[in-house]
Amino acid sequence: MQQREITIRTPGKEALLDITAEVQRAVSESGVNDGVCHLLALHTTAGLTINENADPSVKADILMALKKLVPDDLAYSHAEGNSPAHIKSTLTGHSLTIPIANGRLVLGTWQGVMFCEFDGPRHRKVYVHVVSTG
Ligand code: ZN
Repeated sequence: MQQREITIRTPGKEALLDITAEVQRAVSESGVNDGVCHLLALHTTAGLTINENADPSVKADILMALKKLVPDDLAYSHAEGNSPAHIKSTLTGHSLTIPIANGRLVLGTWQGVMFCEFDGPRHRKVYVHVVSTG
């Protein structure tokens, strides 16, 4: 069992960032060949998802559609003013579980692990917990 953290500097208010390589590095450093990788975004205004890593317009479309689903101008109560970011975090979820086989994350050809920033730019952390089942 291995734990570590990935730190991310997000570039703007909203972004989907492909962190697959960083997560794979953490898995490789753990030495686990067969197991499970749990990821947790340690924030309430960010999330994690798996989606297309090839065409960047997919990331832009996801952010655009989330903006439509969660309007900026509702009568939110939360005084900090970032309720849309909290709600988007809940919609995407903030954790992932990915199998590990032969030391590699099991992902489809077009799948990448995405960190979802909804209230940046900020320094963010993803907790990585690698468990051996071999
Ligand atoms: Zn808040």
